[in-house]
Amino acid sequence: MASWKPKSVSFVRAVTRIDDFPRDGRPEIAVMGRSNVGKSSLINRVLGRRSFARVSKTPGRTREVHYYLLDDRRYLVDLPGFGYARVGKEMRRQWSRLIEAYLGRKEALALAVHLVDARHDPTPLDAMMRDALLSRGLPTAVVLTKCDKLSGSALPRALSRTRRRLELPREVPLVATSAADGTGIDALSKLMIAAWSGEQAAWSRREDEA
Ligand code: GDP
Repeated sequence: MASWKPKSVSFVRAVTRIDDFPRDGRPEIAVMGRSNVGKSSLINRVLGRRSFARVSKTPGRTREVHYYLLDDRRYLVDLPGFGYARVGKEMRRQWSRLIEAYLGRKEALALAVHLVDARHDPTPLDAMMRDALLSRGLPTAVVLTKCDKLSGSALPRALSRTRRRLELPREVPLVATSAADGTGIDALSKLMIAAWSGEQAAWSRREDEA
């Protein structure tokens, strides 16, 4: 089967205030991760658009929640990157308020996609993100990015290290991807389309790992 790509994608809005989140009942998938984790590149790859989400030259600048409307029926939500050292305390507070508010609207959230750079250990901020998602019982998938940078046994090691360090329950899928060479994009797209369509079983399987 040809891999899923949306037929239409439009940028709907950049939300900076809690009251401005859309409330039209369309299912949302949110993508989040550290600044520079490769979020924009992965979103572009999944959407099959060359440069829809901005691939950042200055990491961590965005403090907005970006809503993309796909095929007029579902949202892909690009959450601002976390953990950029140079943002001040007030910025960080604003960031956590916005994220907390976002995650608090869990009725809309079909899947949270938490990105982790395959080359690095999950950071304390990754552990906080994981807790924020799983303590709320939100459907979550963890995605390793930039896997083209790993060779040989480094990839399976990164997968087991991430699952262990983040103490991921069995039902949380862990998918290895690369926006550069396309690894894992089909597996990730399948998880996403199943979640948008409300097919819980598809994202709670672990076969997509490795
Ligand atoms: P964001 O800040 O999380 O949105 O990350 P970007 O998508 O802007 O990417 C950050 C940097 O990582 C850029 O220099 C990208 O070219 C690079 N990058 C992103 N994805 C990949 C990937 O899959 N493989 C490799 N080798 N580099 C990547």
